[in-house]
Amino acid sequence: MRKTYILTPGPTPLPDFVRLALARPILHHRTSEFQEILARAEEGLKYIFQTEQPVFVLAGSGTSAMECAVANLVSPGDEVIVVEGGKFGERWREIAESYGAKVYSLEVEWGRAVRPEEIEKALAEHPSAKAVFITHCETSTGVDTDVEAIARITREKDCLLVVDAISSMGVSPLKMDEWGVDVVVSGSQKGLMLPPGLAFISLSERAWEWVERSTSPRYYLDLRKYRKVIEKPDTPYTPAVSLVVALAEVVDYYRSQGIENLWARYGKLAEATRKAFRDMGLELFSKDPSNGVTAVKSPKGIDSGKLVKTLRQEYRVSVAGGQAKLKGKIFRVAHMGWIDELDLIVGINCVRAVLESMGCSTANPDLAKLYLQA
Ligand SMILES: *Cc1c(COP(=O)(O)O)cnc(C)c1O
Repeated sequence: MRKTYILTPGPTPLPDFVRLALARPILHHRTSEFQEILARAEEGLKYIFQTEQPVFVLAGSGTSAMECAVANLVSPGDEVIVVEGGKFGERWREIAESYGAKVYSLEVEWGRAVRPEEIEKALAEHPSAKAVFITHCETSTGVDTDVEAIARITREKDCLLVVDAISSMGVSPLKMDEWGVDVVVSGSQKGLMLPPGLAFISLSERAWEWVERSTSPRYYLDLRKYRKVIEKPDTPYTPAVSLVVALAEVVDYYRSQGIENLWARYGKLAEATRKAFRDMGLELFSKDPSNGVTAVKSPKGIDSGKLVKTLRQEYRVSVAGGQAKLKGKIFRVAHMGWIDELDLIVGINCVRAVLESMGCSTANPDLAKLYLQA
């Protein structure tokens, strides 16, 4: 067994305080001991989501929270607008279609963020649309979307804004209540430095009106059942106990650091990472780059899939390749969660070594200097 470097945009590395929390003996979930931990975790999530509304914790991957949003808000035949600028925008469309929604796709070139004017135009063209589904960080392309500007538009209309913040939560600024975002979903294994297995969702007061009205079938994902017991605090079904115990530690960490400071820190790591690749002579893929993940174009003649595989085999460094139409064309390096500047120095140096071994010569960026300034 040897040390590995996980620089993928999920799952991300686990801090020791998380691994130790995961190793504790299991608790029964209907005990005051566990309920205190659940209450701490849920209160802390409100801080991370920047909301006064309850944040519900589901046992499931991030996609379960996406499906939960659709099942609780969208009835068959409802018109919705989905922004599709990558793999995860596509997923919003697929889920909404599965629930019988009439979906208008606002297609955005992969690698750039939707502009608020495009949302405005889509809403003018589809005035009966009851919700807009967007992706805060489109992890597949390394793009961050201006949620604040979009919320400024939707909050004035009878139209909900639903945000996939699965990879951006705790990494890129997001102020749910202050900005007037209606629904935010997230997951555990990206910025929140936990193993996969927890999904989170929070709804504004006006979104709850839609929950009552939705005629879509739902059982495990019926949020009304979660809401009935959240004040206790309790969950309708067995929660992922050990993950919640570790989550309580993560939210304490966020409070101790201050979320604004963490947002700023990831912003600096992202900037230094972009500079490192540019100094190496490579081209970035995203025009609206994200705080959490940097997408880099594979140099001419280099298959990024092969680069990723060689990195893992030769250096035990994991980065992500491209998905769907970007397969082979880009690679993605994460700087979210517990990933820090020293991990990035190792990772970027190894990318360079593999590129050289594949016959692609690059310049040598001064990584130590770059990151110690970050
Ligand atoms: C990872 C991710 C998802 C999917 O989450 P799962 O936990 O794999 O279900 C959805 N949206 C975005 C933006 C993601 O980064």
